[in-house]
Amino acid sequence: MRTPVIAGNWKMNGSSEMARDLCGQLTDKLIQAGETARNIDIVVCPPAILLHPVSDAIAGSPIQSGSQDIDQNTSGAYTGQTAASMVVDAGAKYTLVGHSERRTIFGETDEMVAAKTTTALEHNLTPIICIGETQQEREADQTEDVVKRQVLAIVENCGISALHHAILAYEPVWAIGTGLTASPEQAQQVHQFIRQQLAANDSAIAEGCRILYGGSMKPENASDLLAQDDIDGGLIGGASLNSTDFFAICAAAIQQAA
Ligand code: PEP
Repeated sequence: MRTPVIAGNWKMNGSSEMARDLCGQLTDKLIQAGETARNIDIVVCPPAILLHPVSDAIAGSPIQSGSQDIDQNTSGAYTGQTAASMVVDAGAKYTLVGHSERRTIFGETDEMVAAKTTTALEHNLTPIICIGETQQEREADQTEDVVKRQVLAIVENCGISALHHAILAYEPVWAIGTGLTASPEQAQQVHQFIRQQLAANDSAIAEGCRILYGGSMKPENASDLLAQDDIDGGLIGGASLNSTDFFAICAAAIQQAA
């Protein structure tokens, strides 16, 4: 049984006040939910500058924190960048890598995503590696080719054992922030395909690797998506900015894990 993960990506939103309020409200709801809340992994990924207030707000709660990105270099003359050691120092246990906004807006390549994955693992951060096709690629029937290329870039550059410690997040780009969601069947099909690609390299790692779905997941569709065999949680953007919605998605995962 793979432990479900519900991770929130705040993107470039929030403030220290919002971090305190949202994490405080979420902690209260999780405490009320009781011990079963410990059966899933819950992660919030604020902008790096808010990791410290988030760390303070989640102390003693089942919530853990992650960054939205790290630099692949460990330190040095990289103005504006954030090193893995810095997010660890601020309390993070996870980091997103290769989010589609990083790939499309900031030009991150498969090789950079692989390098960031290696850096994260070297710092004991669990990378949540984002992959997924654009609308154009889906319409051209290239979904499997794209996710295969993105997964193989990790396997070839980092080694299959990296996927023993990492998490994958399948995020169809056309579903991110658009209100469009992959149907549970569409998502399951791609998740199963991704697991098959891992299995071709190592069946035990494929069986254990958690693959999250991301793309307009919300309270109304979370249960159906999370019920799919190969969907092991969610990466949530918009709905993670509201403690009621984010908790409702956590509650759906807690129920699945029971
Ligand atoms: C995301 O940013 O990773 C995401 C899935 O966003 P949203 O839930 O808003 O589609």
